[in-house]
Amino acid sequence: MAKRDYYEVLGVPKNASDDDIKKAYRKLAMKYHPDRNQGDGAKKAEESFKEVKEAYEMLSDGQKRAAYDRFGHAGVDPAMGGGRPGAEAYGGFAEAFGDIFGDIFGGAGGARRGAGGGQQVYRGSDLSYAMEITLEEAARGKDSQIRIPSWDDCKACDGSGAKPGTSAKTCPTCNGSGQVHLRQGFFSIQQTCPNCHGSGKIIPDPCTACNGAGRIKSNKTLEVKIPAGINEGMRIRSAGNGEPGTNGGPPGDLYIEIRIKQHDIFERDGDDLHCTIPVGIATAALGGQIEVPTLGGKAEIELPEGTQHGKTFRLRGKGIKGVRSSYPGDLYCHVAVETPIKLTEHQRKLLKELDESFKKGGDRHSPNAKSWTDRVKDLFK
Ligand SMILES: [Zn+2]
Ligand SMILES: [Zn+2]
Repeated sequence: MAKRDYYEVLGVPKNASDDDIKKAYRKLAMKYHPDRNQGDGAKKAEESFKEVKEAYEMLSDGQKRAAYDRFGHAGVDPAMGGGRPGAEAYGGFAEAFGDIFGDIFGGAGGARRGAGGGQQVYRGSDLSYAMEITLEEAARGKDSQIRIPSWDDCKACDGSGAKPGTSAKTCPTCNGSGQVHLRQGFFSIQQTCPNCHGSGKIIPDPCTACNGAGRIKSNKTLEVKIPAGINEGMRIRSAGNGEPGTNGGPPGDLYIEIRIKQHDIFERDGDDLHCTIPVGIATAALGGQIEVPTLGGKAEIELPEGTQHGKTFRLRGKGIKGVRSSYPGDLYCHVAVETPIKLTEHQRKLLKELDESFKKGGDRHSPNAKSWTDRVKDLFK
Protein backbone atom coordinates (compact mmCIF):
# COMPACT_ATOMS: atom_id res chain seq x y z
CA MET A 1 0.00 0.00 0.00
CA ALA A 2 1.40 3.34 -1.04
CA LYS A 3 2.19 5.80 1.70
CA ARG A 4 -0.10 8.78 1.83
CA ASP A 5 1.25 12.25 1.82
CA TYR A 6 1.84 13.51 5.36
CA TYR A 7 0.05 16.80 4.69
CA GLU A 8 -2.87 14.92 3.25
CA VAL A 9 -2.96 12.63 6.31
CA LEU A 10 -3.19 15.60 8.62
CA GLY A 11 -5.47 17.50 6.24
CA VAL A 12 -3.33 20.64 6.21
CA PRO A 13 -1.83 22.66 3.35
CA LYS A 14 1.89 22.47 2.58
CA ASN A 15 2.46 25.87 4.08
CA ALA A 16 0.64 25.06 7.33
CA SER A 17 2.15 26.59 10.45
CA ASP A 18 3.46 24.44 13.31
CA ASP A 19 0.42 25.46 15.28
CA ASP A 20 -1.96 24.35 12.52
CA ILE A 21 -0.18 21.00 12.36
CA LYS A 22 -0.48 20.53 16.10
CA LYS A 23 -4.16 21.46 16.07
CA ALA A 24 -4.88 19.11 13.20
CA TYR A 25 -3.05 16.31 14.97
CA ARG A 26 -4.95 16.86 18.19
CA LYS A 27 -8.26 16.82 16.36
CA LEU A 28 -7.43 13.58 14.58
CA ALA A 29 -6.08 11.99 17.75
CA MET A 30 -9.44 12.67 19.36
CA LYS A 31 -11.24 11.30 16.33
CA TYR A 32 -9.30 8.04 16.38
CA HIS A 33 -9.21 7.72 20.15
CA PRO A 34 -10.10 4.12 21.10
CA ASP A 35 -12.93 5.32 23.33
CA ARG A 36 -14.72 6.58 20.30
CA ASN A 37 -13.83 3.69 18.08
CA GLN A 38 -14.88 0.47 19.66
CA GLY A 39 -16.01 -2.77 18.10
CA ASP A 40 -15.56 -3.20 14.37
CA GLY A 41 -13.96 0.17 13.74
CA ALA A 42 -11.32 -0.19 16.45
CA LYS A 43 -8.65 -1.83 14.32
CA LYS A 44 -9.06 0.66 11.49
CA ALA A 45 -8.98 3.60 13.88
CA GLU A 46 -5.76 2.33 15.35
CA GLU A 47 -4.21 2.07 11.88
CA SER A 48 -5.38 5.57 11.07
CA PHE A 49 -3.99 6.89 14.29
CA LYS A 50 -0.58 5.36 13.59
CA GLU A 51 -0.58 7.08 10.24
CA VAL A 52 -1.57 10.39 11.79
CA LYS A 53 1.02 10.05 14.51
CA GLU A 54 3.80 9.34 12.05
CA ALA A 55 2.79 12.31 9.94
CA TYR A 56 2.75 14.55 12.97
CA GLU A 57 6.13 13.34 14.18
CA MET A 58 7.65 14.16 10.84
CA LEU A 59 5.97 17.48 10.20
CA SER A 60 6.36 18.79 13.73
CA ASP A 61 10.12 18.37 13.51
CA GLY A 62 11.60 21.25 11.45
CA GLN A 63 14.52 19.24 10.13
CA LYS A 64 12.45 16.22 9.16
CA ARG A 65 9.79 18.42 7.63
CA ALA A 66 12.40 20.13 5.44
CA ALA A 67 13.78 16.77 4.32
CA TYR A 68 10.29 15.53 3.58
CA ASP A 69 9.44 18.68 1.63
CA ARG A 70 12.53 18.15 -0.56
CA PHE A 71 12.62 14.41 -0.99
CA GLY A 72 9.21 13.13 0.02
CA HIS A 73 9.01 9.82 1.86
CA ALA A 74 12.47 8.92 0.59
CA GLY A 75 13.91 11.80 2.63
CA VAL A 76 12.69 10.56 5.99
CA ASP A 77 12.55 7.13 7.53
CA PRO A 78 10.05 6.89 10.33
CA ALA A 79 11.86 3.81 11.65
CA MET A 80 14.95 5.92 12.23
CA GLY A 81 14.96 8.02 15.33
CA GLY A 82 11.24 8.58 15.21
CA GLY A 83 9.24 7.73 18.28
CA ARG A 84 10.81 6.26 21.37
CA PRO A 85 11.84 2.63 21.08
CA GLY A 86 9.11 0.26 22.11
CA ALA A 87 6.40 2.84 21.70
CA GLU A 88 4.95 1.03 18.72
CA ALA A 89 4.51 -2.09 20.79
CA TYR A 90 1.85 -0.23 22.72
CA GLY A 91 -0.01 0.75 19.58
CA GLY A 92 1.32 4.29 19.80
CA PHE A 93 -1.59 5.59 21.80
CA ALA A 94 0.04 5.52 25.18
CA GLU A 95 2.91 7.65 24.05
CA ALA A 96 0.83 9.96 21.96
CA PHE A 97 -1.72 10.62 24.63
CA GLY A 98 0.96 10.74 27.25
CA ASP A 99 2.66 13.51 25.32
CA ILE A 100 -0.41 15.62 24.78
CA PHE A 101 -2.19 14.54 27.90
CA GLY A 102 -2.39 18.01 29.34
CA ASP A 103 -3.71 19.46 26.11
CA ILE A 104 -6.50 16.97 25.80
CA PHE A 105 -7.59 16.70 29.37
CA GLY A 106 -7.16 20.31 30.29
CA GLY A 107 -9.11 21.25 27.19
CA ALA A 108 -12.78 21.31 26.43
CA GLY A 109 -14.63 18.12 27.12
CA GLY A 110 -11.81 15.71 26.50
CA ALA A 111 -12.31 13.79 29.70
CA ARG A 112 -14.49 10.80 30.06
CA ARG A 113 -16.11 8.85 32.81
CA GLY A 114 -14.51 5.73 34.15
CA ALA A 115 -15.49 2.33 32.85
CA GLY A 116 -18.12 1.98 35.54
CA GLY A 117 -19.44 5.46 34.91
CA GLY A 118 -19.34 6.33 38.60
CA GLN A 119 -16.82 7.80 40.96
CA GLN A 120 -13.76 5.79 41.83
CA VAL A 121 -14.34 4.00 45.08
CA TYR A 122 -11.44 3.33 47.42
CA ARG A 123 -11.10 1.06 50.39
CA GLY A 124 -9.85 2.83 53.52
CA SER A 125 -6.33 2.26 54.81
CA ASP A 126 -5.57 -0.36 57.41
CA LEU A 127 -4.59 0.82 60.85
CA SER A 128 -2.10 -0.80 63.15
CA TYR A 129 -2.16 -0.76 66.91
CA ALA A 130 0.60 -2.13 69.12
CA MET A 131 -0.58 -3.71 72.34
CA GLU A 132 1.71 -4.69 75.16
CA ILE A 133 0.62 -7.51 77.45
CA THR A 134 2.28 -9.62 80.12
CA LEU A 135 3.36 -13.19 79.61
CA GLU A 136 0.62 -14.35 81.97
CA GLU A 137 -1.99 -12.50 79.89
CA ALA A 138 -0.58 -14.03 76.75
CA ALA A 139 -0.80 -17.50 78.27
CA ARG A 140 -4.32 -17.17 79.59
CA GLY A 141 -5.86 -14.80 77.07
CA LYS A 142 -7.40 -11.47 77.92
CA ASP A 143 -10.45 -9.39 77.25
CA SER A 144 -9.25 -5.90 76.71
CA GLN A 145 -10.48 -2.51 75.68
CA ILE A 146 -8.54 -0.19 73.47
CA ARG A 147 -9.09 3.37 72.32
CA ILE A 148 -8.77 3.68 68.57
CA PRO A 149 -9.22 6.58 66.18
CA SER A 150 -12.56 6.79 64.42
CA TRP A 151 -14.15 9.32 62.11
CA ASP A 152 -17.47 11.07 62.42
CA ASP A 153 -19.20 13.03 59.69
CA CYS A 154 -18.41 16.70 60.15
CA LYS A 155 -21.49 18.36 61.61
CA ALA A 156 -20.62 21.81 60.29
CA CYS A 157 -20.80 20.73 56.65
CA ASP A 158 -22.88 17.55 56.97
CA GLY A 159 -20.00 15.52 55.63
CA SER A 160 -19.76 17.34 52.32
CA GLY A 161 -16.47 19.05 53.11
CA ALA A 162 -17.73 22.29 51.58
CA LYS A 163 -18.16 25.45 53.61
CA PRO A 164 -21.82 25.77 54.69
CA GLY A 165 -23.71 27.60 51.95
CA THR A 166 -21.33 26.41 49.25
CA SER A 167 -21.09 23.02 47.60
CA ALA A 168 -18.58 20.70 46.03
CA LYS A 169 -18.27 20.82 42.27
CA THR A 170 -17.74 18.03 39.80
CA CYS A 171 -14.07 17.78 38.96
CA PRO A 172 -13.65 19.14 35.42
CA THR A 173 -10.58 17.02 34.72
CA CYS A 174 -12.29 13.66 35.12
CA ASN A 175 -15.93 14.79 34.86
CA GLY A 176 -16.51 13.32 38.30
CA SER A 177 -15.27 9.82 37.56
CA GLY A 178 -12.25 10.22 39.83
CA GLN A 179 -10.05 8.59 37.27
CA VAL A 180 -8.69 9.20 33.87
CA HIS A 181 -8.82 6.19 31.66
CA LEU A 182 -7.08 5.44 28.41
CA ARG A 183 -7.39 2.35 26.28
CA GLN A 184 -4.80 1.34 23.73
CA GLY A 185 -5.69 -1.77 21.80
CA PHE A 186 -5.17 -4.54 24.35
CA PHE A 187 -3.96 -2.19 27.02
CA SER A 188 -5.99 -0.19 29.38
CA ILE A 189 -4.35 2.50 31.44
CA GLN A 190 -6.24 3.89 34.35
CA GLN A 191 -4.98 6.62 36.59
CA THR A 192 -6.33 8.36 39.61
CA CYS A 193 -7.37 11.84 38.57
CA PRO A 194 -4.50 14.13 39.47
CA ASN A 195 -6.86 17.04 40.07
CA CYS A 196 -9.33 15.57 42.57
CA HIS A 197 -7.23 12.58 43.74
CA GLY A 198 -10.01 10.18 42.88
CA SER A 199 -12.92 11.78 44.68
CA GLY A 200 -14.50 13.11 41.48
CA LYS A 201 -15.23 16.37 43.24
CA ILE A 202 -13.37 19.50 43.99
CA ILE A 203 -14.28 21.79 46.82
CA PRO A 204 -13.70 25.42 45.90
CA ASP A 205 -14.51 26.63 49.41
CA PRO A 206 -13.56 24.02 52.03
CA CYS A 207 -15.33 23.72 55.36
CA THR A 208 -13.13 25.22 58.05
CA ALA A 209 -14.16 22.74 60.74
CA CYS A 210 -12.86 19.67 58.86
CA ASN A 211 -10.53 21.31 56.32
CA GLY A 212 -12.68 19.94 53.54
CA ALA A 213 -12.32 16.30 54.59
CA GLY A 214 -16.01 16.03 55.48
CA ARG A 215 -15.19 14.07 58.60
CA ILE A 216 -13.60 14.67 61.93
CA LYS A 217 -11.30 12.35 63.78
CA SER A 218 -12.45 11.22 67.17
CA ASN A 219 -11.89 8.14 69.31
CA LYS A 220 -13.86 5.10 70.16
CA THR A 221 -13.46 2.21 72.53
CA LEU A 222 -13.12 -1.22 71.07
CA GLU A 223 -13.44 -4.55 72.86
CA VAL A 224 -10.60 -6.87 71.96
CA LYS A 225 -10.51 -10.55 72.78
CA ILE A 226 -6.94 -11.74 72.99
CA PRO A 227 -6.81 -15.50 72.55
CA ALA A 228 -4.91 -17.64 75.06
CA GLY A 229 -1.45 -18.62 73.87
CA ILE A 230 -0.87 -15.60 71.65
CA ASN A 231 2.76 -14.84 70.97
CA GLU A 232 4.97 -11.86 70.33
CA GLY A 233 4.39 -10.25 66.92
CA MET A 234 1.05 -11.98 66.24
CA ARG A 235 -1.68 -9.80 64.87
CA ILE A 236 -5.37 -9.74 65.60
CA ARG A 237 -7.53 -8.38 62.82
CA SER A 238 -10.54 -6.29 63.60
CA ALA A 239 -12.41 -6.05 60.31
CA GLY A 240 -13.77 -2.66 59.31
CA ASN A 241 -12.16 -0.69 62.11
CA GLY A 242 -9.52 0.95 59.95
CA GLU A 243 -9.83 4.24 58.14
CA PRO A 244 -13.05 4.96 56.28
CA GLY A 245 -13.13 4.47 52.51
CA THR A 246 -13.46 7.16 49.86
CA ASN A 247 -16.71 7.74 47.97
CA GLY A 248 -18.51 5.12 50.02
CA GLY A 249 -15.74 2.54 49.69
CA PRO A 250 -15.38 -0.02 52.48
CA PRO A 251 -13.30 0.86 55.52
CA GLY A 252 -9.89 -0.67 56.10
CA ASP A 253 -9.13 -3.09 58.90
CA LEU A 254 -7.51 -2.57 62.24
CA TYR A 255 -4.60 -4.80 63.17
CA ILE A 256 -3.61 -5.22 66.76
CA GLU A 257 -0.04 -6.33 67.02
CA ILE A 258 0.95 -8.09 70.20
CA ARG A 259 4.06 -7.20 72.17
CA ILE A 260 4.89 -9.24 75.23
CA LYS A 261 6.64 -7.60 78.16
CA GLN A 262 9.80 -9.20 79.38
CA HIS A 263 9.09 -11.48 82.30
CA ASP A 264 11.14 -11.44 85.49
CA ILE A 265 11.51 -15.21 85.60
CA PHE A 266 10.42 -16.87 82.40
CA GLU A 267 11.69 -16.68 78.88
CA ARG A 268 9.40 -17.93 76.16
CA ASP A 269 10.48 -20.00 73.21
CA GLY A 270 7.43 -20.90 71.16
CA ASP A 271 5.22 -22.89 73.46
CA ASP A 272 8.07 -23.70 75.87
CA LEU A 273 9.23 -21.69 78.84
CA HIS A 274 12.69 -21.52 80.32
CA CYS A 275 13.82 -20.36 83.74
CA THR A 276 17.02 -20.43 85.75
CA ILE A 277 16.94 -21.86 89.28
CA PRO A 278 19.76 -20.89 91.64
CA VAL A 279 20.80 -23.82 93.85
CA GLY A 280 23.30 -23.70 96.75
CA ILE A 281 26.39 -25.92 96.62
CA ALA A 282 25.23 -28.02 99.56
CA THR A 283 21.79 -28.72 98.04
CA ALA A 284 23.38 -29.44 94.67
CA ALA A 285 25.76 -31.91 96.32
CA LEU A 286 23.33 -33.54 98.71
CA GLY A 287 20.23 -33.42 96.53
CA GLY A 288 16.71 -32.75 97.77
CA GLN A 289 13.46 -31.12 96.87
CA ILE A 290 13.48 -27.61 95.52
CA GLU A 291 10.58 -25.38 94.73
CA VAL A 292 10.26 -23.97 91.22
CA PRO A 293 7.82 -21.39 89.88
CA THR A 294 5.47 -22.12 86.99
CA LEU A 295 2.93 -19.85 85.30
CA GLY A 296 0.19 -21.80 87.05
CA GLY A 297 1.74 -21.68 90.55
CA LYS A 298 4.53 -23.50 92.37
CA ALA A 299 5.90 -26.92 91.56
CA GLU A 300 8.65 -29.09 93.03
CA ILE A 301 11.65 -30.75 91.53
CA GLU A 302 13.51 -33.65 93.14
CA LEU A 303 17.19 -32.76 92.74
CA PRO A 304 19.35 -35.88 92.67
CA GLU A 305 22.58 -36.05 94.67
CA GLY A 306 25.52 -34.43 92.88
CA THR A 307 23.48 -32.20 90.56
CA GLN A 308 25.87 -30.25 88.35
CA HIS A 309 25.66 -26.62 87.30
CA GLY A 310 23.73 -26.20 84.05
CA LYS A 311 21.67 -29.35 84.51
CA THR A 312 18.19 -28.93 83.02
CA PHE A 313 14.95 -30.35 84.32
CA ARG A 314 11.91 -30.53 82.12
CA LEU A 315 8.43 -30.10 83.52
CA ARG A 316 6.10 -31.52 80.92
CA GLY A 317 3.05 -29.46 80.02
CA LYS A 318 4.03 -26.52 82.22
CA GLY A 319 4.71 -24.28 79.22
CA ILE A 320 2.13 -22.39 77.19
CA LYS A 321 -0.59 -23.83 74.98
CA GLY A 322 -0.14 -21.87 71.76
CA VAL A 323 -3.04 -20.42 69.79
CA ARG A 324 -2.90 -23.24 67.28
CA SER A 325 -1.37 -25.96 69.49
CA SER A 326 -3.15 -29.04 70.78
CA TYR A 327 -0.90 -29.45 73.80
CA PRO A 328 0.88 -27.03 76.06
CA GLY A 329 4.66 -26.76 75.81
CA ASP A 330 7.11 -27.63 78.59
CA LEU A 331 8.93 -25.70 81.27
CA TYR A 332 12.70 -26.09 81.32
CA CYS A 333 14.40 -25.33 84.63
CA HIS A 334 18.12 -24.68 84.29
CA VAL A 335 20.11 -25.25 87.49
CA ALA A 336 22.60 -22.51 88.37
CA VAL A 337 24.83 -23.67 91.22
CA GLU A 338 25.79 -20.71 93.36
CA THR A 339 29.15 -20.09 94.89
CA PRO A 340 28.61 -18.81 98.43
CA ILE A 341 29.82 -15.29 99.21
CA LYS A 342 30.49 -13.18 102.35
CA LEU A 343 31.69 -16.16 104.39
CA THR A 344 32.13 -15.94 108.18
CA GLU A 345 35.38 -17.14 109.76
CA HIS A 346 33.65 -20.29 110.88
CA GLN A 347 32.26 -21.06 107.41
CA ARG A 348 35.67 -20.38 105.92
CA LYS A 349 37.24 -22.87 108.30
CA LEU A 350 34.62 -25.50 107.55
CA LEU A 351 35.09 -25.08 103.80
CA LYS A 352 38.86 -25.43 104.13
CA GLU A 353 38.41 -28.62 106.09
CA LEU A 354 35.97 -29.85 103.48
CA ASP A 355 38.38 -28.99 100.70
CA GLU A 356 41.23 -30.90 102.43
CA SER A 357 38.94 -33.88 102.71
CA PHE A 358 37.98 -33.65 99.01
CA LYS A 359 41.66 -33.52 98.01
CA LYS A 360 42.35 -36.71 99.86
CA GLY A 361 39.87 -38.41 97.59
CA GLY A 362 41.78 -37.33 94.46
CA ASP A 363 39.47 -36.78 91.44
CA ARG A 364 36.74 -38.90 92.96
CA HIS A 365 34.67 -35.95 94.06
CA SER A 366 35.18 -33.84 90.95
CA PRO A 367 33.38 -35.43 88.01
CA ASN A 368 34.63 -32.91 85.44
CA ALA A 369 38.14 -32.22 86.74
CA LYS A 370 39.86 -35.43 85.60
CA SER A 371 38.75 -35.31 82.01
CA TRP A 372 39.46 -31.60 81.97
CA THR A 373 43.08 -31.93 83.26
CA ASP A 374 43.62 -34.67 80.70
CA ARG A 375 42.43 -32.42 77.92
CA VAL A 376 44.71 -29.60 79.09
CA LYS A 377 47.66 -32.04 79.11
CA ASP A 378 46.87 -33.07 75.56
CA LEU A 379 46.80 -29.44 74.54
CA PHE A 380 50.40 -28.81 75.68
CA LYS A 381 51.88 -32.16 74.65
ZN1 LIG B 1 -10.99 14.57 39.00
ZN1 LIG C 1 -16.78 20.05 57.58
